[in-house]
Amino acid sequence: MKLPILLYHKIDRIPAGSRYPRNYVTPEQFEAQLAFLARRGYTSVTFADYLAYRRGERLLPRRAVIITFDDGYRSNRTIALPLLRQYGFGATIFLVTAYVGMTNRWDADEIQEPLLDAADVRAMQAAGIDFGSHTATHARLATLRPVEALRELRTSRERLGELLGKPVRVLGYPYGDYNRETMQFARDAGYEAGVIIRRRMNTDTTDLLELRRIPITCLTSPGRFAWDLFRLRWFHGS
Ligand SMILES: [Zn+2]
Repeated sequence: MKLPILLYHKIDRIPAGSRYPRNYVTPEQFEAQLAFLARRGYTSVTFADYLAYRRGERLLPRRAVIITFDDGYRSNRTIALPLLRQYGFGATIFLVTAYVGMTNRWDADEIQEPLLDAADVRAMQAAGIDFGSHTATHARLATLRPVEALRELRTSRERLGELLGKPVRVLGYPYGDYNRETMQFARDAGYEAGVIIRRRMNTDTTDLLELRRIPITCLTSPGRFAWDLFRLRWFHGS
């Protein structure tokens, strides 16, 4: 099967002075995208569902999608979650574990916005939202020395596992930055899947440590959104 995984950051109004406005999708755009998915018969699945499918242990709905958010902004709870629930979709949020309850201090030149805190994470988990690791400090993994990369991967997985009360299986490589070595470190640290940034579907043979995500930004038109989901179904492999 072909699985699209969507990548979002912030669902919110774009504040004046934002350095990276593409990290925003407005609530109106997001709602229109969810309505489109619902109308076309898409069902959201979890990474656990998909991993079980890849092991041959379960089937997935014909039109499955995974919705993901990077960084874990508080607006994921206040703005995105109500819309997700309204349309019956789940999502996976990749958290920067050392900064839970703080702000996006890894991009110091961007407007600082609150991130989900531990209570937010637990409340969202109770509401059916899944979480993965986006490393401890939003590290550019492929540029780190091996010992540092492994520490980022291991400490974030441990800390998030404690917060969630269950093992963490999925990693979102910060900046989509990774290489062969990074993938091996992720495997060594206990991750079963890793997500990158690439406008392609996932097939039954896509490397699980290199799952592609389609980035959605404030510039993604309704036509482009529909086209990505339709056209990419016909692409094979890489
Ligand atoms: Zn990020």
